[in-house]
Amino acid sequence: MAIESSKGLLKERGVRLTRQRQILLELIDKTGEHLDAERLFQMAKEKDPKLNRVTVYRTLKMLKAGGLVDELDLMHYGGDQHYYETRLKQEHAHVICLRCGKVEEFFGEPLQRLRKQIESHFGFQVLLARTEVGGYCAHCQTLRAREVEELRLLTVAAGKPAAARAPSKRTRRS
Ligand SMILES: [Zn+2]
Ligand SMILES: [Zn+2]
Repeated sequence: MAIESSKGLLKERGVRLTRQRQILLELIDKTGEHLDAERLFQMAKEKDPKLNRVTVYRTLKMLKAGGLVDELDLMHYGGDQHYYETRLKQEHAHVICLRCGKVEEFFGEPLQRLRKQIESHFGFQVLLARTEVGGYCAHCQTLRAREVEELRLLTVAAGKPAAARAPSKRTRRS
């Protein structure tokens, strides 16, 4: 269904849906994931071995310019990589774990409210809003707490007389 409306949009804008455009659009629409150009290239090549990297990158640029896909950097968690997702999804915020790179999507009414507030505050016409929130997921918070504690114990073991501190299994002497 999403693909059908993408096609409709393209037609409206007078953009021809070439085979490579169709392949990429379908991949992006269907997975619903945030895939980088290289990953998309690999997936597209499985469908059409004749596709080359340059064509894929150029096509992504075209789809972005045509307002069909959105390009994200996801807080540069993966370095300079950019990620692509369909613009047909309802607007959402990306919640990115800066430790494991997990990306969650927050769809919520507060986002619409923020848009309206910005519009009325600045007399601005919002066309596109991109919200990214970085932090630690629940799992990584637990791991981090453990790491911090281990580091503290190591520091204690290395620097201070151990007798002054609570004994610990991890206390090491070198
Ligand atoms: Zn995480
Ligand atoms: Zn998303």
